[in-house]
Amino acid sequence: MLRNASKTHVLITSVFLFIVIFIIYFYMKASPPLRLPVLDFGPNEDADFINEKIIKTQDCPKQSAWSIGDLTMKHGLEYAQPSTQKGRTDVNAVTNWNAPLVWEGTFDPVVMDEIYMKMNPRIAVVVFAVGKYTRFVKGFVESGEKHFLVGFKVTYYIFTDDKESVPKLDLGKNRNISFLPVPSAKRWQEVVLGRMKWATLTIDKQIRNEADYLFMMDIDSVFHNRFGAESLSRLSAVLHRGYYKAPREEFPYERRSQSKAYIPAGAGDYYYTAAVWGGYLEDMYKLVKYCYEQSEEDAKNNIEAVWQEESHLNKYLLYNKPTKVLSPEYLWSDYDQVPSDIKVVRISQLIKNYAEVRPNGGHR
Ligand code: UDP
Ligand code: MN
Repeated sequence: MLRNASKTHVLITSVFLFIVIFIIYFYMKASPPLRLPVLDFGPNEDADFINEKIIKTQDCPKQSAWSIGDLTMKHGLEYAQPSTQKGRTDVNAVTNWNAPLVWEGTFDPVVMDEIYMKMNPRIAVVVFAVGKYTRFVKGFVESGEKHFLVGFKVTYYIFTDDKESVPKLDLGKNRNISFLPVPSAKRWQEVVLGRMKWATLTIDKQIRNEADYLFMMDIDSVFHNRFGAESLSRLSAVLHRGYYKAPREEFPYERRSQSKAYIPAGAGDYYYTAAVWGGYLEDMYKLVKYCYEQSEEDAKNNIEAVWQEESHLNKYLLYNKPTKVLSPEYLWSDYDQVPSDIKVVRISQLIKNYAEVRPNGGHR
């Protein structure tokens, strides 16, 4: 009797242990890749407060697995020795908050790709092609396939009112397109600002589960050269080609104090373009949503910021410094001559007939 009872006991315990191990195994297998925790600071004008929050130790990623932001590298990679003496001397490659300012010649693509490829991040590109702008999709995507984060997992999220007019596109391995319907617009300002709303809603509903990094881009552009992993960071912003040598007084910030995007005279680091910006998904979400909410507030007060979402973006980035600043190589324009400090044009905005492509014409 006693022997049978203890046998049964051992059997039950073993089965129980087996089930527990089985559940733990499958739970770990199904877990998504490690992400940085979402920090709970919002857009705030008190920079000291924000810096303090960023360096809290409990916010650091675990070292036990690859995670975004790791700068680890495999053994045996061959590359040129970095110099402490030689480098670009014609441009500044660091901001006054010690973030990299990225120019050709300030990074080694071999090292960059190795470091960032390790986690094999999923990259979302959010672009809008409403009305006649669908004509730009093919050139954007097909040049992106040649130059944009080649070898990485990329999904282009194309928000359009006319999917049918987009021709079939050739994509590389691990590259995808997702079309999302949006309404047509009567004013281009509707599309430009509407991007913030649609992106906020769609990140919430879908993209959050599908991407680690997110870029917001204009569709009326073509890639010409490498736009690689050196562009990745928690929050990366591109210097506007028109103002990167200008004194801050000349930046086209919103100067009316009635707008949420108001920046007073005497303030400002750089003027950033809203045609290319990117970063960790959650940090980008916070910023896109900020632009959306601030522009809604403005609308309630019957005001529209001078450069729409770009004005709100610049306000945010003044008080929440980007972790990488990308040179105008990361968005040039076919309208402008290429000066000697721009060694490589990575992506360039096309010349377009504003009166013809926009529903209500006009420059912005
Ligand atoms: N856009 C669009 N349809 C429009 C107007 C704008 O799809 O009628 C989108 C498109 O992605 C475009 C972006 O909004 O690249 C920004 O507008 P635009 O390029 O005209 O502004 P600009 O770069 O000339 O200031
Ligand atoms: Mn554009």
